[in-house]
Amino acid sequence: MQEGFETVIGLEVHVELNTATKIFCACPTVFGAPPNTLCCPVCAGLPGGLPSLNRAAVEKAILAGLALHCEISERCLMDRKQYFYPDLPKAYQISQDRDPVCKNGYLDLQMGEVSRRIGITRIHLEEDAGKLIHTEAGTLVDYNRSGVPLIEIVTEPDLRDGAEAAEFLRELRRVLLACGVSTCKMQEGALRCDVNLSIRPTGVAWLGERTEIKNLNSFTFVEKAISLETQRQLGELAETGAVRRRTVRYLPRQGRTEPMRKKVTAAEYRFFPDPDLRPFRISPETVERIRAELPELPAQKRERLKRDYGLSRSVAEVLVSRDGLAEYFEETAKFCAHPVVVANLTINELLALAGEEETFSTKVRSCRLRELAEMAGNGEVNRAVAKRLLHRLTESDFSPRAVATEEALLQISDPVQIGAWIASVIREDPRSVSDYQNGRKNAFRALQGKLMKMSGGRVEPALAERMLLEALEKKGGTECTNMLPN
Ligand code: ADP
Ligand code: MG
Ligand code: ZN
Repeated sequence: MQEGFETVIGLEVHVELNTATKIFCACPTVFGAPPNTLCCPVCAGLPGGLPSLNRAAVEKAILAGLALHCEISERCLMDRKQYFYPDLPKAYQISQDRDPVCKNGYLDLQMGEVSRRIGITRIHLEEDAGKLIHTEAGTLVDYNRSGVPLIEIVTEPDLRDGAEAAEFLRELRRVLLACGVSTCKMQEGALRCDVNLSIRPTGVAWLGERTEIKNLNSFTFVEKAISLETQRQLGELAETGAVRRRTVRYLPRQGRTEPMRKKVTAAEYRFFPDPDLRPFRISPETVERIRAELPELPAQKRERLKRDYGLSRSVAEVLVSRDGLAEYFEETAKFCAHPVVVANLTINELLALAGEEETFSTKVRSCRLRELAEMAGNGEVNRAVAKRLLHRLTESDFSPRAVATEEALLQISDPVQIGAWIASVIREDPRSVSDYQNGRKNAFRALQGKLMKMSGGRVEPALAERMLLEALEKKGGTECTNMLPN
């Protein structure tokens, strides 16, 4: 970022709700059906089709709003938003303008050591549009998606850079998944995001003129588009003295953003209440019934993991960051005396070996990891052996205790045995011993490595290190006295 300037970002996030049927008709919402097979006169926008509001969509919107600490409006209204585009058969979208379902919420983020509260301005209900398919012969339209319920979550302009915006979206996705209101599958368009961005001198309270980057469908794209658009605006400002309000396109392959059209203003949409749909009330009883259904949210889960299993903040954060990971951890750690060892093995080994998929999965059965963590925690195997066995468990299933016993991998803590190995290491490598005594500390690592090798990696590391040090100091002491006469 250029010295003296800051970026200001507000997001509009569109989330498809996972109701069984569409928002104003009884057509199913299945993804990937053959084009135009899930349509009726209402969602295809034929004359005379009358919408009726799907209660499940309203309730899911309320649940999402409560999870984001919003106020729920008692009186709601559906409005018509007029615009002309072939994916919109009625030439207006039914949305909410003045009275959205939810208002004034927030989502807390943890950015390293810094906590940030991002305001949620509003959440409103609306219908999705159809999908345009561009072919060489021309553009085709599929109305299967037309009328799928959406919530649009609008944030305050509280975000300051791409990393923060991406973390906001990740945390939002975790919250919505926990609530079970959406699949949040970005590759299926179930979660899409518009980025509003402006720049201003650092420290002032006013907002600069913004541009809007449309329809970003991955967190990486959001981050990249933000940094590119910031640079583009700085350039435009330096060149022309001002940033113009516009809609911008992100071109991932070319690595730049490109202004498209003049931004449409609210007045041009000619919002007015939809006369086919009556205003509706959401009673306090309904809100309380839905509030009682709120699941454990990611922030609460992190706190509980720290408290119940004695984990550090950063470990708890990693466990909650991937779908299915915390669940796997808990299944393993619940009846294990060493939950911290389970967490470390899960994160440092299994997560590192897992693929990039959104949901964590591993071949290692939790009963095997539990057994291994017990052995590592009790000092029956050392960390290196535990790691090796865990890697083998990702290939094939076996009992770690049986294999450790059979292959003589159990940790050796017997001082007599360790002492004997130390004596032969010292005898076999006088060079390293004298190097060590002449102050070359690296020589100690060499001797330690030899000891590990000799024992097949089984000695208890801390005990072996202490005994080796003592043996070397003792030896050093005698040799020094021998040299004194010179
Ligand atoms: P519209 O419906 O025209 O897209 P809104 O006024 O509802 O716009 O704002 C949409 C989003 O733009 C919100 O997330 C808001 O925080 C953000 N926003 C508004 N003004 C600015 C600005 N100057 N810079 C950055 N973001 C802004
Ligand atoms: Mg907008
Ligand atoms: Zn329909």
